Amino acid sequence: MNRILIAEDEPRIAAFIEKGLRSHGFTTSVATDAQSAADMANGSAFDLLILDLGLPGKDGLKVLEELRGQGEKLPVIILTARDDIQDKVAGFEAGADDYITKPFRFEELLVRVKARLRNNLNNQDASEMVIKIRNIVLDLRARQVKVGEQTIELPAREFTLTETFFRHPGQVLSREQLLDRVWGYDYDPGSNIVDVYVGYLRKKLGSNLIETVRGMGYRLRT
Ligand code: CA
Repeated sequence: MNRILIAEDEPRIAAFIEKGLRSHGFTTSVATDAQSAADMANGSAFDLLILDLGLPGKDGLKVLEELRGQGEKLPVIILTARDDIQDKVAGFEAGADDYITKPFRFEELLVRVKARLRNNLNNQDASEMVIKIRNIVLDLRARQVKVGEQTIELPAREFTLTETFFRHPGQVLSREQLLDRVWGYDYDPGSNIVDVYVGYLRKKLGSNLIETVRGMGYRLRT
């Protein structure tokens, strides 16, 4: 639960937020206009949206209204220079969960992001928060993995990679898909980081858990 979409057309601000969030273990992607923000936010690829209001193409408020109109429940934090009380009210009425005005301190954004993600977890049905495949139990709330009776500690990226496989059991996931979901940015497609991490998971969770599908990617055996 750490994939964050940043809708921000100002490259310096987007880079600043990305850098900070990544250094705290979050996975980030940036949408630089209203249409791509709406497209990317719709679905289950992200756990939270940080939304600028002054976006090319359409106002961020409109993007938010449309997302909520489509039933999208993704937590949204508005991050904008508009600091009038009317703007804040309009933001919350459009369905924002929080509202931060620019200029802002990264520490404040981070605290609010964490609070939102925590709230969201608390609101989810506990049964959705555990995935069990074979003898492995993935507890998404505690971010803990149990193999049989043994609890295995996984660093953030390894956990997110495991979660990605467990959400798509039996499905072939390409290196590009895994890079995008877990690392969330334009890693060199020739990079072998996915293979290295799959190797870590095989060592920790069982050597035959993740199968190599030649020329295509990897699949979690069910
Ligand atoms: Ca802007």
